[in-house]
Amino acid sequence: MEKELYRIEFAERIPLYICRECGGEVFHGEVYYDVAGRLICRDCLPHFARRYFGGCRRVLKTPEGCR
Ligand SMILES: [Zn+2]
Repeated sequence: MEKELYRIEFAERIPLYICRECGGEVFHGEVYYDVAGRLICRDCLPHFARRYFGGCRRVLKTPEGCR
């Protein structure tokens, strides 16, 4: 029984994926994002999204004469 528990705990500490942004490991039960085949960890998502969607960025300009 103890041996089985050790086996399960050990398996949970083997990283399944490596984040494409930071190189960090993603383990069993952790959240990650598959963005068009790029695996991104939760911590890197905001930074990645800003860069990935950078071309979609717009600034709404105030119309002339409005304050
Ligand atoms: Zn990352």
